[in-house]
Amino acid sequence: MILVGLTGGIGSGKSTVGAQLVSHGAVLIDADLIVRELQRPGTEVFERIVAEFGDGVVTPNGTLDRAALAAVVFGDAERLTRLNAIVHPAVQAEMARRIEAQRSGRKVVILDIPLLVENPRRGLSATLVVDVDPGVAVARVVAQRGGDEADTRARVARQASRSARRLIADWIIDNSGSRLDLAHEVARAWRWMQTLPHV
Ligand code: ADP
Repeated sequence: MILVGLTGGIGSGKSTVGAQLVSHGAVLIDADLIVRELQRPGTEVFERIVAEFGDGVVTPNGTLDRAALAAVVFGDAERLTRLNAIVHPAVQAEMARRIEAQRSGRKVVILDIPLLVENPRRGLSATLVVDVDPGVAVARVVAQRGGDEADTRARVARQASRSARRLIADWIIDNSGSRLDLAHEVARAWRWMQTLPHV
């Protein structure tokens, strides 16, 4: 398989790019989606989080209250470490399982990992970064996903910098243009991926 790490800042267009790559024929492994699946009510990860942080992180309908959990660990390194110790090994194991399931094939497998700069990965054929001015990203999230502007800005400020992300890139998709421009950029990146070494 050709294994490509995909990353980008909040609102950069990473999910849009991932979906377009799937329509070109890629297999997408989405780290955030795996986290959400592993935190569904009744899962071991869910039970351990509730045991650790209490019923305050559960919504009235019994699902994990991600916002409440984020508030509980925000600014508290020790709590964050305890949360990560519950979530990360489970996510890594599930991601590894999904990668191995593709290993013997000829497919392009995209690993969508928001925090690839913070958690570098070995064994990739290459790294693809979706790049846009953070101000544009915030404006898109606010306009199209109804995000709160101050909150989105604060989350953008906490993430890895645009320049740090560009430094790990083997290929950069520029998403400063229209959606149609992005589709052309993705098509070019898809052609480049076909030339990458299999792992
Ligand atoms: P990410 O997954 O990186 O957070 P998304 O793919 O969800 O980013 O994109 C953020 C928002 O911006 C979405 O609402 C998406 O539809 C929109 N978007 C993405 N690319 C463009 C573009 N080139 N022009 C306008 N809106 C865009």
